[in-house]
Amino acid sequence: MGELSRKEMSLLDEIPNDYRSGFVALIGRPNVGKSTLVNQLLGKKIAITSPVAQTTRNRLRAICTTPKAQLVMVDTPGIHKPHHLLGERLVKSAKKAIGEVDLVLLILEACHSPGRGDSFIIQILKQQKIPVLIALNKSDLLSKEDYLVKEAEYRDVIEDSRWPIYGCSASNGDGCRMLLDAMVDLLPIGPKLYPPEMICDQPEKVLLAELIREQVLLQTREEVPHSVAVKIDRLEEVPPSVKSKKKGLAHTAILATILVERKSQKGILIGKGGSMLKNIGQGARLQMQILINGPVYLELFVKVVPAWRSKPSQLKELGYGLDL
Ligand code: GDP
Ligand code: MG
Repeated sequence: MGELSRKEMSLLDEIPNDYRSGFVALIGRPNVGKSTLVNQLLGKKIAITSPVAQTTRNRLRAICTTPKAQLVMVDTPGIHKPHHLLGERLVKSAKKAIGEVDLVLLILEACHSPGRGDSFIIQILKQQKIPVLIALNKSDLLSKEDYLVKEAEYRDVIEDSRWPIYGCSASNGDGCRMLLDAMVDLLPIGPKLYPPEMICDQPEKVLLAELIREQVLLQTREEVPHSVAVKIDRLEEVPPSVKSKKKGLAHTAILATILVERKSQKGILIGKGGSMLKNIGQGARLQMQILINGPVYLELFVKVVPAWRSKPSQLKELGYGLDL
């Protein structure tokens, strides 16, 4: 065995033998508080479950590093939509997603009684061998007594006392520390999977490009299907200008290109007198302003690149690595 370098020695010092790490699948209907919980656990706001979740190609991972463990939280799009899951193929892919993580965090709402959708997800999870923890969120909306009534209702639906229920409030942080500790205890022993300062595995550019792609999918329906990709060409923070009165506000300037494979698709995307592109831009800009939390100036171009999907150089440039 060779001698360890000083650097390697110090790295070993930093990581205790019982350090834990692993992947946690977050499952929950829209609006139960997944994003809020992730932000609460990270102590910082990142956009984790934007509406693009259903169509995202680059699955977003939120990384929470503590002195004892590193949790990588993964969204599992689709599984919380029972009517989407009626297709056998979708049930299969949801099960596959669950099979790839170490732990499932099922997020439910204490302010509602359990519904059909909840039972559906619970049945799927029961067929898996994976450990499941339940976060009964929004406990702040109820009195202690009412909370306990709801917890009992959920306990009835779960019918499985092996799954612990943690009452919590993702908004004010109540119960979140205990929930985090419980998740850590269920992770396998292992080293850090990402650098500790990283809280999200996707650069902002990818998130912004996805917001544009989402608008394309929303507004063009089936006409321009999956042969579309978006590339952010420029992303720039523009400071407030003292000279011009009109455009003097600080903003983020974004230049992006939408790639399509055929000329006919370009025509559809631009629309009559540019109307379609304008709508896509407006829709995307609104979402971007929420993500960035500030004004956005967005300029869009459409470019035809025949068969971009089969060109490795294009795929690499667009950031579609092994995930595609
Ligand atoms: P997601 O769709 O599951 O990601 O849900 P969000 O995190 O976007 O939350 C949906 C809504 O519920 C937002 O308006 C949140 O402010 C609210 N919310 C989330 N967690 C809590 C909570 O613990 N208490 C209360 N009162 N509201 C919450
Ligand atoms: Mg969300």
